[in-house]
Parts: sequence; structure tokens; C-alpha cells
Amino acid sequence: MSIETTVAPTGRHSDSPQPYPYQAVELVEPDWTRFPGWASVTAEDWASVQWQRAHCVKNVKQLRELLGDLVDDRFYADLERDQAERATMSMLIPPQMMNTMVPDVTPAGAGSLTEAFYADPIRNYMIPVFSDRRTEWSSHPHATRDSLHEHDMWVAEGLTHRYPTKVLAELLPTCPQYCGHCTRMDLVGNSTAVIDKLKFTGKPNDRLGDMIDYLRRTPSVRDVVVSGGDVANMPWPRLEAFLTSVLEVKNIRDIRLATKALIGLPQHWLQPDVVDGVARVASLARSRGVSLAIHTHANHANSVTPIVAQATRAMLDAGVRDVRNQGVLLNGVNADSHTLLDLCFRLLDGAQIMPYYFYMCDMIPFSEHWRVSVAEAQRLQHHIMGYLPGFATPRIVCDVPFVGKRWVHQLADYDTERGISYWTKNYKTSIEATSEDALSRTYEYYDPIHTLPEAGQQWWAEHSGLETTALKAAEMAEASRRTAALQAW
Ligand code: SF4
Repeated sequence: MSIETTVAPTGRHSDSPQPYPYQAVELVEPDWTRFPGWASVTAEDWASVQWQRAHCVKNVKQLRELLGDLVDDRFYADLERDQAERATMSMLIPPQMMNTMVPDVTPAGAGSLTEAFYADPIRNYMIPVFSDRRTEWSSHPHATRDSLHEHDMWVAEGLTHRYPTKVLAELLPTCPQYCGHCTRMDLVGNSTAVIDKLKFTGKPNDRLGDMIDYLRRTPSVRDVVVSGGDVANMPWPRLEAFLTSVLEVKNIRDIRLATKALIGLPQHWLQPDVVDGVARVASLARSRGVSLAIHTHANHANSVTPIVAQATRAMLDAGVRDVRNQGVLLNGVNADSHTLLDLCFRLLDGAQIMPYYFYMCDMIPFSEHWRVSVAEAQRLQHHIMGYLPGFATPRIVCDVPFVGKRWVHQLADYDTERGISYWTKNYKTSIEATSEDALSRTYEYYDPIHTLPEAGQQWWAEHSGLETTALKAAEMAEASRRTAALQAW
């Protein structure tokens, strides 16, 4: 029997131009000595997590000391105004992350970095400035501090039970870096001029003990997302002790460690005692048939550098089953199909990190300039299909309040004029046990008003009745209510 091979006719060759031109790219660590403040920093310093933590950029003064006059005064003034009037997160940027901003621009004197710095995608979400944000509709009328209502679903302080079989354990309220768009802005990080953060009231050991007790007495829970904040801010011995306790709960089959530090401060995950500790936990997990994975958070290809790949390799070699990326879809950063695909290929090819989700930016105060409409998210999902392996094609998801994550094409109905999408769900959250209609009603999600047609914008102008000042007052009232609830815990 002969086998015939078919040769594709000219013009149908596999290298014919595609809307997205895939190209393998070498990872590069940008040269940090291009910034005046780090002109004499050695490779040894750079590799040291202690040096990285000690040299984080935490305020405008330190940013000036680092960049000097390469960036115009108007940028610093813009940043100061944002911190006084808009910022929901305080500033904290490890050198590793700072060095991924304007990576290709060679400074050439005073002011020469200004425009590139304004345009830089990582700067955009890590160092937001006043002029980035919208002046009209800077917050959606339905924006809230805890937009996912995670605190309402706490079953122990910091333990959110929102889905039937999985829980989120917020071990601590800090991270090595603070992202301007953080969805947990209610709790995570230091208070800002605009937002007084809530505080955990329980003693850390009591809180963690209560979480373990809940897991033991709730056999329907099989999956624990161990988060914060960022688990990289918990001293490793304490984190290992907690993970070992979780592994003793026989119903637990999946543990996922949430850490953006793998991207922002990979030096943490390269420390020998941390690598050895992860190997011990991974070995214990394997012996008990539990999958241990790391979930990280990169929003742009520029974040994926050789040291990120090295830290990921160290984690995989230590026995972590998988490292997955959960990015956030952000206008001005990555809301473009080529930018998303560049990031996914950089993660997958360069660092063996699995592209997993892109979350739509949540409806928190002052986030409208970052958010995109559901229709735009659907369009982006369409355009990224087919290039990556199916198992590495990320889903763009909308985290619908009181529902949970939904693929963006899963909506039940959509009023595109008013930008209101309607969603259903197939399980009850922990606060709906007695609800009659939780599974038959629809739940709303709202597009940014400035993306709506004129008639839709007009409708909101007439019906919202909530301008920024009123919104702030409502937010503060909500914060007080929550603080009182926490104190009564
Ligand atoms: S790392 Fe995660 S939890 Fe921490 S500030 Fe960024 S988005 Fe928020």
C-alpha cells in the first residue's frame, strides 16, 4: 500500500502571513545601571533578595532619587496628585519590577525618559498618575471597595468560601509589590489618602488555626488557594507550617500558592532555604496525592525576564506541579490581542509558565480608565484563539459579583446601550444557603460608561445620581460598617 503525501499549493504554505506574526524571542534582563540611582549596583546586589527589598521604590522622593531628571517634573507632580486624590494602593515597587519599565530606551539627558515612561505599560499599572485616570466617570457608580464581596463570604477571618469545592485563604494583607489596580484594595497594603484599609483583627496564629479548623470540618472543600496579599511576604517557616497543616486535612487535593513575587521579586523564590522548603512541601504533597501549584500574575511580556524564568525553573525542579499565570486585562497595559499573545508566548516559551486566565479588571473605585467592556473582552478572546496550544490558551474571565468567574461569552443577556450584562450561576455561595432564587435570577455586571454609545451615557448621567464625592462617602460608610463587623467577629 502506498501513502500519498499532499503538498499544499503555493499560497497555502504554512508560513503565509497571519494576523499575529509569531516570533520566538530571547529573554533579556534590562541593564539596571541605565538608571542614575543604580549606576553602581552590582550583579551580586541585584541577585540578593535583601538588597531588592531594601531598595524598593516607596514614594515620589525615592523615584526621583532613582530616575533623577531623566523624567520631567510634571510627571512627579502628576504622581503626587494621584496619590493625594485617587490612589487606592500605596507605592511599593521592587527594583526587579522597576527595571522592566522603559527597558529599551537609552536615556539621553534631562527629560529624555518622560514620554516613554508615561507610555510604559508596567509603569501604567504600578505607578498610576492622575492624568492616566478619567476625569468623568473615574469610578463606576456601582464600584465598591470589596467588589467581589469576599469579606461577606468569610467563613473564618480571611477565609472566603465562594465556590462549592474551593476556598481562598488570605494569610496576610501585604505583598512585596503593590499594583495600582489591586482588586483587594480594601484590605491589602497601607492606607492611602483616599482609602483607609481594613485590618485583620484576629491574631495571625488564631486566624490560621481557624482556617484549618474550617477545612477539617468541611469535607466538600478540596482546593485551597493560599493567598494574601502575596505568600512571598510570609516568613517561609510559617508558610511551610501552614501548608503542612493543610496537607494533613485529608479532603484537600489541590493547593495553589498565589504570588506575584515570582514576577516582581523572583529573587525571593530563588533563596536556597525557600527552594528547599518548597521541595519538602512538594514531596509531602506528592506522597499524599495532592497537586501543589503556583499561580502568578504577569500583565505584560516585558515582565518576563531571565531571572523570572530561573525562579520558575527552580520551583518546577523543586516539585511544584505547574506554574500558571493569572493576568489582569487592563486598558493601557495589555488590552490588545498582539500584546496578550506576546505575553503568553513569552511566558510559555521563555519561562514555562502556563497562560491560564486574564481577569477583567474589577469594579473598584477609580479603575474606569483600566476597564474594558465585556464586548471588547469577547473580541479579544476571539482574536487570541488558535495561536497557542489549547491547554495554554488563556480564558478571559469576568468575575461577576455574587457569581464568580465566568468566561466572557457565557453571559445570559447584554444591554449594550447601557453596558449592563446579565449572568447566571449554577451553585450557591456561602451566603445564599437559604436563598430561593439564587440559581434562577440574573446578576449584573457593568461596562465602563465612557465606552457606551451616547444614549447609554446619557441614561447613566440621568439615573446614576452618584458622582465621585458621593461615591467616596458611600465607600467610607461601607468601610465603617465592615470595620464594625470585623470588630464584632
Ligand atoms: S500582588 Fe496581587 S494582591 Fe498584591 S497588590 Fe498586586 S494584585 Fe493586589
